[in-house]
Amino acid sequence: MKVLVINAGSSSLKYQLIDMEDESVKAKGLCERIGISGSKLTHKVPGLDDYVVEEDMPTHQKAIELVLAALVDKDHGVVASVDEIDAVGHRVLHGGPTYTGSIKVNDDVKRVIRECFDLGPLHNPANLMGIEACEAAMPGKANVAVFDTSFGMGLEPYAYRYAIPEEYYEKYSIRRYGFHGTSHMFVSGEMIRFANLPEGHQKVIVCHLGNGSSISASISGKAVDTSMGLTPLEGLVMGTRSGDLDPAVVQFICDHENISVDEMLTILNKKSGVYALSGNLSSDFRDLSSAAESGNEKAQLALDAFAHKVVKTIGGYLGVLNGADAIAFTGGIGENDTAMRAKIMKHFEYAGIKLDPERNKVRGKASKISTDDSTVGVYVLPTNEELAIARETVRLA
Ligand code: AMP
Repeated sequence: MKVLVINAGSSSLKYQLIDMEDESVKAKGLCERIGISGSKLTHKVPGLDDYVVEEDMPTHQKAIELVLAALVDKDHGVVASVDEIDAVGHRVLHGGPTYTGSIKVNDDVKRVIRECFDLGPLHNPANLMGIEACEAAMPGKANVAVFDTSFGMGLEPYAYRYAIPEEYYEKYSIRRYGFHGTSHMFVSGEMIRFANLPEGHQKVIVCHLGNGSSISASISGKAVDTSMGLTPLEGLVMGTRSGDLDPAVVQFICDHENISVDEMLTILNKKSGVYALSGNLSSDFRDLSSAAESGNEKAQLALDAFAHKVVKTIGGYLGVLNGADAIAFTGGIGENDTAMRAKIMKHFEYAGIKLDPERNKVRGKASKISTDDSTVGVYVLPTNEELAIARETVRLA
């Protein structure tokens, strides 16, 4: 079975064609500048040079048509005809309070995705365009929606409700949803398989640390807590997102700088995080680490603040779970930043959780990084959201 995985953004569309026989990626690519002049498709097939198509893509529909043409192209294609694609899996940001899992798309599902435009204003409209473009270009194929929020829908009310008047929950479904759900679902499942955790011993903390960062606690793959909230702004200090802060800060700055809440939210999403703490030096941890090594105090502050918040969250989740069976690091930083992993985990030596400095040298490869006598196993486990979406698509299509 071959599954096309689509991640549609407002002006971009990423795709992968995965052969589910061996879960290998046959082709992947990116359409850029959809609806803007200068659109471009870059199509990659393992072992071949990149195939670049520079052609106007006024709509997502046109982008999908170009993707399908690339997939069947006689020189750069990987299938003889579109009929070989069995189903399409779509990343959808927000399923609101309705969907607790992935679902095969029908008119009702599209209505709910539309009703959630308010909750995911940047992503949900684009995600729906991607679905409708595939329906038009490949009539009759199953489309499956995989929601970034469905993992967090498993939380109990005491973990998802904000302590604000009930009417806002009742009227607007204001609650913690959590994001990176597909990654947390995938990595927590892989963690159980990789470490062979037996039933009854499947309490897992997943640290997804990348440009966007979040941490989840789960038992047997079911979420118990997760650090992002109504939007991906809550929780950890991130690349350019502030993470948690006293809401009164918003009012204070809006009043004193005479800016709107919308403008303030753009600042909190795009101009904050380690980028802001480093004095606008960079949001990339490689830049921050080398600057800190050369004595840049603001870069050091950014790294310290990031680690501090991760430590507080892992510590909190160890309590929430009443002890964990495994801790997994994933995402660009989690998989690659060996010094950051060591800096974070040093705080848990009090509880007998110890990294092995040799094992912790690993980057981007599933591996145990704790000592054999560590009270909790600590691992690096690369995330693979596309594969998670493809597996959900096979399950439902
Ligand atoms: P992601 O959003 O998961 O793709 O992660 C991207 C982030 O991972 C980048 O902004 C970097 O901060 C970080 N990153 C990637 N590779 C490395 C590395 N070798 N060392 C430290 N940080 C890295």
